[in-house]
Amino acid sequence: MATERALPNLWHATAPAAPRTAPLTGDLAVDVAIVGGGFTGLSAALHLAETGVRTAVLEARMIGFGGSGRNVGLVNAGMWVQPDDLIATLGAAAGNRLLDELGDGPSFVYDLVAKHGIECEAVRNGTLHMSVGAEGLKEIREREAQWKKRGAPVEVLSAEKAHALSGAEGFTGALLDRRAGTIQPLAYARGLARAALAAGAEIFTDTPLLAASRQGDLWKLKTARGTVTARHVILATNAYGSLVTDVPWKEYRQELTILPYFQFATNPLPDNVAARILPERQGAWDTGLVMTSFRMDKQNRLIFGSIGRLDAIAAGTHRAFAARSVRKLFPYIGDFRFEHWWDGRIGMTTNNLPAMHVLAPNVVSISGYNGRGIAPGTVFGRALARHVTGDTSAIPLAQTPITPDPWRTLKSVFYHAGAQAKHFIDKRF
Ligand SMILES: Cc1cc2nc3c(=O)[nH]c(=O)nc-3n(C[C@H](O)[C@H](O)[C@H](O)COP(=O)(O)OP(=O)(O)OC[C@H]3O[C@@H](n4cnc5c(N)ncnc54)[C@H](O)[C@@H]3O)c2cc1C
Repeated sequence: MATERALPNLWHATAPAAPRTAPLTGDLAVDVAIVGGGFTGLSAALHLAETGVRTAVLEARMIGFGGSGRNVGLVNAGMWVQPDDLIATLGAAAGNRLLDELGDGPSFVYDLVAKHGIECEAVRNGTLHMSVGAEGLKEIREREAQWKKRGAPVEVLSAEKAHALSGAEGFTGALLDRRAGTIQPLAYARGLARAALAAGAEIFTDTPLLAASRQGDLWKLKTARGTVTARHVILATNAYGSLVTDVPWKEYRQELTILPYFQFATNPLPDNVAARILPERQGAWDTGLVMTSFRMDKQNRLIFGSIGRLDAIAAGTHRAFAARSVRKLFPYIGDFRFEHWWDGRIGMTTNNLPAMHVLAPNVVSISGYNGRGIAPGTVFGRALARHVTGDTSAIPLAQTPITPDPWRTLKSVFYHAGAQAKHFIDKRF
């Protein structure tokens, strides 16, 4: 899989070192076993360990191997779907609760960063949802109205103001959301891991779950060189769930459609150029049909992303598109080169909302953040911790049955091929 070839990425080059962890060897008994060491699993581990619950995280590869160590780093509020659409799908009571919790999601993330002293290039100056054409402007105005009804500090900026705040050409406006901000995502994941370890959790890396079986009231989880016995299991593998066939929840992997997303990061730009691009250091993405994103990092690199996988056939097309787009957006950029590039898998659901499942007695999962998992993963991680310790109303999502999407493979191919075609044609002719 191309995504695995693309590591280490920029975030690995600039994050503080991961805390020391090792594979599981031998037999271990805990209260809660967590499968997956991304934001969801690590936040759950931290919040469990803080209340004295014996907790072990089993991570197949390394901390932040999945989406958590590959994303753009936009700490956004709410979900990607419009607030009113979310309420139409979930109903008023459940929808309003989810919107309230995820609207406060960025605050929760930045509070954790401050509380645990996590060094992750945290900047909380808002994000910019850039509008493309008249349609895009309509979309962000609609989003503004819906969030404003809820008292959120969002504001549509004119094309001139959007240009001043982004330094980018060609947008018709932007929605500035002051609740949001940016982080270095892998550094955040590693910081959560360090905090969880300090609170008493155990984290085992290079330790894929291979099989699970029920023994009385307990689960026995098998790994290559050890076992974990636990009363509760939290499955936090999201779009990176590897093929584990010897578990009673095999169909779980059939639910998410994979949307590939790549990023290219430039060399550190000269100060005079870096001061013109996103001068207040908001992160940005657009309303385009094939979305693009851009942000700066602490070393003044510009990071540009869009939909697509950097496999052997498509990588050249996406790279050329990224270079053309960067020059078109920032005509004053001068010479630059791409020093880092990587891709990742975004887990999409059919209703564009995350799903909570009880897969078997005391086995619970939340996944499918549809490209918005930094704040939601952290919020849901805490909710999962509360859930398994007895607070059955802690999760702001109703439990649903798994709904395998028969079209998921076809849709993934469509996203990949469609983005490739768009990037080949776009701005070329
Ligand atoms: C390129 C990209 C850009 C994105 N941009 C943003 C953004 O700007 N803002 C935002 O909010 N969200 C963004 N997202 C989404 C966000 O990154 C994810 O929703 C989030 O990281 C999911 O976290 P998680 O902990 O649920 O899963 P993950 O971080 O994917 O972690 C799952 C972990 O499970 C492990 N695992 C899998 N199978 C096993 C097994 N059998 N045994 C043990 N471990 C296993 C994997 O190795 C992996 O580490 C982006 C995602 C991608 C890919």
